[in-house]
Amino acid sequence: MAESTSVPDGCEDLYSSLGKLVVASADMESRLRYVVSELAGDDDAGWIVFEGQSVEWLVTNGLAVLGQLEEMRRWPGGNSTRIRSALLEAQNANRLRNLMVHGTWRDECILRDEGCVPRPATAPLEGRVYHVCRSRYRKGLEERQFAISDIDALAEKMWTLEQELRESKDAAKDAWLGRT
Ligand SMILES: [Zn+2]
Repeated sequence: MAESTSVPDGCEDLYSSLGKLVVASADMESRLRYVVSELAGDDDAGWIVFEGQSVEWLVTNGLAVLGQLEEMRRWPGGNSTRIRSALLEAQNANRLRNLMVHGTWRDECILRDEGCVPRPATAPLEGRVYHVCRSRYRKGLEERQFAISDIDALAEKMWTLEQELRESKDAAKDAWLGRT
């Protein structure tokens, strides 16, 4: 276990960006729950199964339901591909969110050459860069570098995904019901 080190000074920008991310991720999760529940058929009492489930559970089961719907051929394959892509993107965004929300934010690097993952060279950079460390269940630390702009970009992406989950599900239902 790595020792806790100094909390960076003057990191108000970090607090506000992480707050925004928490709000955006709750919006995305809520939409994900609604969409997966509707895809599974929530007409009667089935919705109760989806309450309180994690994003990982919702995506795994959403993909399983989608596989069944594909076999029923209710809509063109392109509609399923679009929904699947939104589900997988939501899963990836949530994993990144969990590292940002549950990790410790430091100015200094803990793992260094032993596995600190740098920011993608192509990502736009604004604000200071932090090293975020998270303890993993029965594994060593995970460490990645993030700038404030990476947190903001993820929050915006989650709001975009919230919309895409809804729109891709609506487009499939419209195709099924012959409304397009
Ligand atoms: Zn580092």
